[in-house]
Amino acid sequence: MVRKYLKPGNPASSKTGKFGDLKPAEPAAWRDGVPLIGDDQVYVVKHGTVYHPGWCQAVADKWATAPRGLQVAMAADVGARTPCRECVRLLKVATSPPAQMGQAPSPEPKPSDWVVPLRVIGLAHGILFLAAGPEHRARLRETAVEPATPLYVGGQRDGMVVRLDAGRAEPLLVVQMDPRATFRDGPYQARLRDPLQRSASKPFAVACIEPAPEP
Ligand SMILES: [Zn+2]
Repeated sequence: MVRKYLKPGNPASSKTGKFGDLKPAEPAAWRDGVPLIGDDQVYVVKHGTVYHPGWCQAVADKWATAPRGLQVAMAADVGARTPCRECVRLLKVATSPPAQMGQAPSPEPKPSDWVVPLRVIGLAHGILFLAAGPEHRARLRETAVEPATPLYVGGQRDGMVVRLDAGRAEPLLVVQMDPRATFRDGPYQARLRDPLQRSASKPFAVACIEPAPEP
């Protein structure tokens, strides 16, 4: 707001420099008051030197402590900022095939504990409903959906997980499809991870949803 009153070349505007204010972008969506980024957007904090292509611990902490300092910006505008390493790591975990989970350096429980098979229950008005089989419903009830949880198909973000309806006899994962995405019918799976939000009351969180590997 103040910026438009600054004349070009004014020291005050150049002082913000490469890592200063970015032009805030309108988030692709909102969920429970949380701004969600689109494919071409990132999270930034004022005067930070990194940008966040996902919802990492740093973003979750910022949101918890000073939400007004968390901004959505266009990825094309990040300038000299570098990608957050934690975001890059999470993205790798979310997009690598499950078979590689066992090779992860950190000690993990059985890989099968971190994957919940899902089947398509319905698709209406761009909203996709996914359910787990009876043997996985208990796990799904212990799982939280944190902001900016993607649905990946072929490495593309085709949608965002909106919520998990855990109160029902058959818990449902609800996904808002990207209007540009082509719906892929077939089995899916939820990849789980530890929750990022300190306030999380459940032991698991959804890292991403992806097509189940071919048998
Ligand atoms: Zn990050």
